Amino acid sequence: MRTQDFPCLFVNLTVIRDNTRAMIELCREHGVEPIGVNKLSCEAANVAKAMIEGGIKTIADSRIQNLKKIENLPVDKLLLRLPQISMAHDIVAYSDISLNSEEHTLRALSAAAVAQHKKHRVIIMHDLGDLREGCFDPRETKRLAHLAHEELPGLTLEGLGANLACYGGVEPTTENQQRLVDLAREIEDELGTRLRTISGASSSALFLLMNGGLPEGVNQLRLGASLIMGFGLNDEPIPNTRQDAVRIGVEIIELKDKPSVPEHSTALDAMGRKPVFENLGVHRRALGAIGEQDVSFPQLRPLDPGVKVLGASSDHLILDVTNSKSGYQVGDVVYFSLGYSGVLQCMTSEYVGKQYGYF
Ligand SMILES: *Cc1c(COP(=O)(O)O)cnc(C)c1O
Repeated sequence: MRTQDFPCLFVNLTVIRDNTRAMIELCREHGVEPIGVNKLSCEAANVAKAMIEGGIKTIADSRIQNLKKIENLPVDKLLLRLPQISMAHDIVAYSDISLNSEEHTLRALSAAAVAQHKKHRVIIMHDLGDLREGCFDPRETKRLAHLAHEELPGLTLEGLGANLACYGGVEPTTENQQRLVDLAREIEDELGTRLRTISGASSSALFLLMNGGLPEGVNQLRLGASLIMGFGLNDEPIPNTRQDAVRIGVEIIELKDKPSVPEHSTALDAMGRKPVFENLGVHRRALGAIGEQDVSFPQLRPLDPGVKVLGASSDHLILDVTNSKSGYQVGDVVYFSLGYSGVLQCMTSEYVGKQYGYF
């Protein structure tokens, strides 16, 4: 009896819960309260719940549609991507906190909050050099903090934040994190109030934290990859976490001995690439029912050491299984681990099934 459609992602919630526990413990030893970033799963509610079981008190996502899906979970919700003015109403309705860097947006959020009889909390983003979001000029960061705190009745100034290692590949360092703390202290002096939150960076800051290099004052990290994938900066495994929360199974639809070099290859492949082949003689090849429409194939890393990924077109994955000891038959399933972007793509593909469980 068939119990499962393939391809299918298997998501082990035990790993996510335990990774979360380990990171919460680590962070708390250093005075940091992590928030759980669940954008990778397109806000699957059971992943959010596993993070909450692990001790997370705020769940974050880049997209407000995703936070709407977990409206009923009893935790604070934080919107990571800078708010769209066109969605101000939903942002105030479905998130408690958002990250901001634009005056017009702050004004729109305040108006939406006033209309909903709510206070919306804002973290002003300062750009420490990674060159994605945030005010680059500290004077502008201060101006927005003043605006949110003193002039906009629908807003509460929650604190300051910065993002690193996303666009520019700039590492969190003691020096750049200290600059954020210093700026926050200046703002506190000017406003005559304490800021609740200094939100330093993402999972990319965990090695710095472990080495004791995260300056005092940074009291929040926004953690996604570390909780789900067990990865920190440069996708390096984090001690006391597991990297095997997500696996994908792909079904074999053809299995034949074929030459390793095509006949008279002169044309581009289906993806517009010029294919290159190594002559390995006749080998045992399997076709898998997944393709570039679902995931870019270098993201697929076979768990069976005898399986090699040769390539893919939009709907087919081509595998060399010559050296496998598994004795595959047509209809069998081959399993792979994936990188962060591979998981992201498969989570987003409606053709890839998802099975969640405490395995
Ligand atoms: C995605 C994201 C994070 C989480 O990053 P990880 O590397 O997954 O920990 C943190 N902050 C912002 C602004 C993000 O967009």
